[in-house]
Amino acid sequence: MGLSIVATPIGNAGDITLRALDALKRVAAVVCEDTRVTMKLFGIHGISTRLVAYHDHNAEEMRPKLVARLMAGEALALVSDAGTPLVSDPGYKLVRECLDRGIAVTALPGPSAVIDALVLSGLPSDRFFFAGFLPPRAAARRAAIAELAGVPGSLVFYEAPQRLAECLGDLGDVLGDRPAAVARELTKRYEELRRDRLAALAAHYAASGAPKGEVVIVVGPPDRPAEATAAELRLDQMLGEAMARSSLRDAVDEVAAASGLPRRLVYRRALALGRAQPR
Ligand code: SAM
Repeated sequence: MGLSIVATPIGNAGDITLRALDALKRVAAVVCEDTRVTMKLFGIHGISTRLVAYHDHNAEEMRPKLVARLMAGEALALVSDAGTPLVSDPGYKLVRECLDRGIAVTALPGPSAVIDALVLSGLPSDRFFFAGFLPPRAAARRAAIAELAGVPGSLVFYEAPQRLAECLGDLGDVLGDRPAAVARELTKRYEELRRDRLAALAAHYAASGAPKGEVVIVVGPPDRPAEATAAELRLDQMLGEAMARSSLRDAVDEVAAASGLPRRLVYRRALALGRAQPR
């Protein structure tokens, strides 16, 4: 009974747990993104359970129907096209609604590209922040990256291959030339890990063009003494106070003059803080 969140492979069809296969065979129906993708997996593993499509375009209409089936006592499984549902994939609202209604939810864990890329990156894995997909437009992307500058751990991003080079360039510009890795085609035949600094990776992909297949970017943590973090906190505090009483431009001028920091750096931070404030 209830909803089982079931992880499926991110490339290699063999990467699925015995428990996941068992659950997918037993449930009344499997809720998936693209029925053709899940049918292919089912064909490989000899599963014939009925499929129900649930994706960005029909979720609002389908969710109440799925909840009604669960409330009536049916067991359903949720999968996505690849990896772990809800991780940059549909399912969060369905799970939220199940929990709100007291429907049992369980997870059958398995592959996810974020973990595979992190553990293969050679970058610190004890603390990490998964930031999903960055905004596609440059200005919004840079502002989003600036918000992550102080995270004291590795950063992991999903990215479309055609935006890889510009994204690596923006990461290097905003975060500094940190060590990083690009993981491509994980678990697949042409799996590739490229480890270098951000600027070198950006130059490589700008020269080679968009790579084939799927990619994950991992960026190492900031390499700086504790005072740097304290200095950042002081800057945020000064900016917060100045922005509360003046325009953004005046606040940046005031804080740049008072702190002696480059105006460009102060402005970038002010933009990030401005975006982070609730409206
Ligand atoms: N739910 C999935 C998971 O748990 O990994 C992620 C789905 S998200 C829509 C798709 C993104 O995940 C791709 O754009 C890519 O960044 C990453 N990804 C998925 N499979 C991958 C693979 N085999 N190799 C590299 N990246 C992969």
